[in-house]
Amino acid sequence: MALSIQNALLHALLFFLLCPFAEWALHRYIMHRPFRILFWWLRYPFRSHAQVHHDIYRADHTYHAQPGDTGEKIPMAWWNSLVIVAIGCTMISSYFNYFGWKWLPLALVIMFGYYGVYEYIHWCMHLPRQRRMELWWAFKKLNGHHLLHHRYMHKNFNVVFPLADLVFGTLMIRSPIAFAQARGPAVPDVQPLHEATPRG
Ligand SMILES: [Zn+2]
Ligand SMILES: [Zn+2]
Repeated sequence: MALSIQNALLHALLFFLLCPFAEWALHRYIMHRPFRILFWWLRYPFRSHAQVHHDIYRADHTYHAQPGDTGEKIPMAWWNSLVIVAIGCTMISSYFNYFGWKWLPLALVIMFGYYGVYEYIHWCMHLPRQRRMELWWAFKKLNGHHLLHHRYMHKNFNVVFPLADLVFGTLMIRSPIAFAQARGPAVPDVQPLHEATPRG
């Protein structure tokens, strides 16, 4: 019994660690790249994310939903989660063939859970409402991480867990140049250090 719990935890950890890499690849190669000739239907995520979401929410004060904005363009369409998890499970089908399809439900729980966390924190980032969670240090860190993505679209593709940004060299902690960033109790200062440090 103890061994099977250990096994489940190990598989759960592996499934969890796959999620930021899937998030990174999806965000970088599907949501920020327009497919022109083949795969015309792949333009949908580019349009709705790179052209609409990034156009409404920038890195200045418009990072936060402005008066009258109900946040309609913050989340992805509900069915995106089904497509993404189905593709993810298909891509690791050989894993299930080897270790057993009994691990599929665990993978589904973790993948949908990761997706749910993504949607919720992304919603809170752009539509802050002084929730308790917004004052949690980890949320603030991730908020700064995502704010920089809205300033530099080729950086910080992870929203939930920036492991793939770290591994693939797209992690940005602070902006290299000063810019008029969004401010608020849940938004950290991401300006260059020499700009933030008082002189004299
Ligand atoms: Zn993006
Ligand atoms: Zn965003």
